[in-house]
Amino acid sequence: MAEAIRRRELLFGAAGMTLLGAASSARAAEPTRKLGYAIVGLGTYGADIIMPRFADCKYSRLTALVSGDPAKARALAAKYGVPERSIYNYSNFDPIRNNPDVDIVYVVLPNSMHAEYVIRAAQAGKHVLCEKPMANSVAECEAMIAACRKAKVKLMIGYRSQFEPYNVHAMKLRREGAIGKVRYVQSEHGWNQGDPSKWRLKKALAGGGSLMDIGIYSVQALRYLSGEEPVAVTARESTDRKDPRFTEVEDLINWTFEFPSGALGGGLTSYSSHHNHSRITGDKGWLDMDPSTAYQGNRIRLRRLWDPEQEVTAPPGPSANQFAGQLDHMAQCVLTGAEPIVPGEEGLRDMRIIEAIYRSAAEGRTISLA
Ligand code: NAD
Repeated sequence: MAEAIRRRELLFGAAGMTLLGAASSARAAEPTRKLGYAIVGLGTYGADIIMPRFADCKYSRLTALVSGDPAKARALAAKYGVPERSIYNYSNFDPIRNNPDVDIVYVVLPNSMHAEYVIRAAQAGKHVLCEKPMANSVAECEAMIAACRKAKVKLMIGYRSQFEPYNVHAMKLRREGAIGKVRYVQSEHGWNQGDPSKWRLKKALAGGGSLMDIGIYSVQALRYLSGEEPVAVTARESTDRKDPRFTEVEDLINWTFEFPSGALGGGLTSYSSHHNHSRITGDKGWLDMDPSTAYQGNRIRLRRLWDPEQEVTAPPGPSANQFAGQLDHMAQCVLTGAEPIVPGEEGLRDMRIIEAIYRSAAEGRTISLA
């Protein structure tokens, strides 16, 4: 565990440097082309949020689409200049192995489909970027890591916050002692889910409720903002099972992490109220992020003991935005042979913690993570 924490500290400490370093080594290697991405799943995130961001990338371009909806795929292909021959559906996806324009497959499907498509992409010899949560269970995460290892391809999880300048800067400030010794970290993420028919409220497709979807940002933030790995968790759940949205999945959970230093971490996830906030409190002050992990507009307020509170502007990252940063980081890793800062093992770690949070809430006791 000590080694894991040290590695994590190095990882996060190096986050900005890794990106810059990877960028310069790749420049040294002078890529003759941008690496090609196939997007699997043309829903809100894949089509509306990710696809437009290729325009901001230095090392990545959109070269293929995989969809169950041919008309939607054709319209998006026309918009982004993807040739007809590089449009696939879920049943003819595997011959993507023969498409030299595709280096990386980005899986942006409902959670229950992540494992299957990551494994099929790896077996087709393609590197894989997979959206969060990595999968619906620890067992699936392990199978995905094994498949990518066997195929000798890279696997990265879509933890965009770790490429977002304010989150990278918050980690740096904490590491440099801006707030002293960390005693308490908190992170709350939630949104008010409207439509009971959505896949996010179906256990088989989503794997769970708010914790799998949005609470995972709190799990991540508590780990990277504290710089520690939790050794135990105690959780409580409150779900109105008469609410048609919550017949299958949970609404509200809060939990406490115990960290090896003695610091505590308070996490919250909700599908019935809006939250996007994180805060680190140390013996010399506090750092507050509100919003904490939004697509844009994240903020840091810093208060050092006895000094007035100040609004901190994070230095811009190496990329135009967190989405381009994430896409280009994966491309850089493929080009240089470096390991992604958020590999499959990072998704697996979160899934182990998520399973422990569920168990603690269900059994009403503290679960050890050591
Ligand atoms: P969405 O519902 O908007 O899109 C899902 C896509 O999957 C659609 O194109 C849909 O047609 C397709 N699909 C295929 N089989 C399906 C099935 N059986 N049921 C439902 N849809 C099916 O979802 P989304 O918001 O784009 O989320 C997709 C993934 O991206 C999820 O894993 C989610 O957690 C992740 N996500 C990540 C972020 C982030 O900020 N990193 C943000 C949003 C979503």
